[in-house]
Amino acid sequence: MTPQPPADLLIRAAAVHTLVPGEPPRRAIAVTDGRITALSPAPDGLDALIGPATEVVDAPGSTVLPAFDDTHTHLILAAQSVHGVPVHRARDLAGFLDLIRERAARTPAGQWIHTTVNWQEVLLAEQRMPTTGELDGATAEHPVLVRRGAYNMVLNSAALRLAGITEATEAPPGGVIERDEQGRLTGRLINRAIELVEPVLPSPTLAERIDGLRAASADYAATGIGTVRDCLVPVEDLDVLDAARAEGALAVRMRALVSGFAARTPEQVDALLERMDAWRADGRDDDRLRLWGVKFGIDGGFEAGAMEEPYQGQPCYHGRLLWEPDELLAAVDRVVERGWRVGVHAWGDRGLRVLLDVFERVLKRHPGLPPGTLVVEHGGLARPDQRARAIALGIPVTVQHPLLHDGALTQQRAWGEERTAALFPLREWLDEGALLTGGSDFPVGPYGAMVSVWGMTTRGTTAGIVGPEHAIDRSEAVALHTVNAARLTGESAVRGSLRPGAFADLTVWPLDPLDCPVEALRDLRPTRTVVNGLSVHLS
Ligand SMILES: [Zn+2]
Repeated sequence: MTPQPPADLLIRAAAVHTLVPGEPPRRAIAVTDGRITALSPAPDGLDALIGPATEVVDAPGSTVLPAFDDTHTHLILAAQSVHGVPVHRARDLAGFLDLIRERAARTPAGQWIHTTVNWQEVLLAEQRMPTTGELDGATAEHPVLVRRGAYNMVLNSAALRLAGITEATEAPPGGVIERDEQGRLTGRLINRAIELVEPVLPSPTLAERIDGLRAASADYAATGIGTVRDCLVPVEDLDVLDAARAEGALAVRMRALVSGFAARTPEQVDALLERMDAWRADGRDDDRLRLWGVKFGIDGGFEAGAMEEPYQGQPCYHGRLLWEPDELLAAVDRVVERGWRVGVHAWGDRGLRVLLDVFERVLKRHPGLPPGTLVVEHGGLARPDQRARAIALGIPVTVQHPLLHDGALTQQRAWGEERTAALFPLREWLDEGALLTGGSDFPVGPYGAMVSVWGMTTRGTTAGIVGPEHAIDRSEAVALHTVNAARLTGESAVRGSLRPGAFADLTVWPLDPLDCPVEALRDLRPTRTVVNGLSVHLS
């Protein structure tokens, strides 16, 4: 036996939960060259690996877990808004407008002011968005862009002027320019109407974008997340990500789904795939940044998910399907033919049914597809027969409690309480044998390792406890972000559990998340997050 080299990092803790099936907690873990090299049941069991350069962390009250994956999130969006006016902290419109006023006071006149995107108007006291007039009251000297999520904006008058939007402007198809009863602009733009503004926004420099990724990825790491699966990467942003990686600005690993939302024709899908194939041919994948596949969406979200039964109070409205099934089939076909994977957003029960029809046909045409090639993103309202079909087809599902947490009120208005409570039937999915993975879908809800575990185990939301019968237990919730997540990305050999030879991606917690009072989980932060052997977060 050759002696092991000294450890770079050695942690002694109250418990190291390896998540290797059947393995009792360990008390010490050693890391060398970015990999886990040894574990021991005794706190001093690895002391022989201490060398002159070893960082020894004595944390006798702490618990070590693998770093978490956020298997459906939007780091790119987080990076774009990380330096925006932090309106997600406002509790009412007065506070919201004050934050904009404060920023305006230290921003040269004429310069754009934009906000963070991770907030919900229903969580403000007034339960609505600010109007153009209110934003004008905060500043008339700056164009103001209030953004919420990826598809909603409110502009002040200066911004509307720069974008050339007047009462006469027609929205592009699939977009809404909101007007009040008198036909005046409210400043709100929805869905494709936001395309009217994008050309006049100052484009950030490469350095600014890398800086945004650095800050946002560090924020993820500070919550215990070590890998993000970004589900909406514009193909032209691959070069930005590459540059960020080269500068060491990605604190977390990234698995990227290129956005197929604008690809409607076979030619457009092919154009995306050309760029992805070139990335692969150039060997640009590595363990930090890896292209996973393509993302499509079959239906809308809280207010446009495709439903079998009509929306509450709207007997003729069933939400929106965004694809003809045959066209989606053709698009998915092209992607899998070239060896890429596909994740498709499905929110309503009709959306999921139609998606499974499409996936079934894809699998018939390509019987040899590796498991996990086709993935359901969200599968929000998954009825028993749909769960049975997804499981029989071997299709993994990514679930995101934060969507329910932040969206419950909006969803109850659109669907009523019963259908809202039926969202994310995690208990049933797991009992029936699905491969489920956990995520956030930030910026719609908050990201974070333990806030997600708290949510999935309590079903707590901004509308109170919703559908408690669908809750899962803590170790299951942790597995959704670790062991299962690594299966989803095909990396079980090196990620998801703590074993010798695996990447040293781990988190250190001041309490045992598997055993502390459940309410403590909600705001629980790790004292340390390690990715590839390096401490990317320390507190
Ligand atoms: Zn998403």
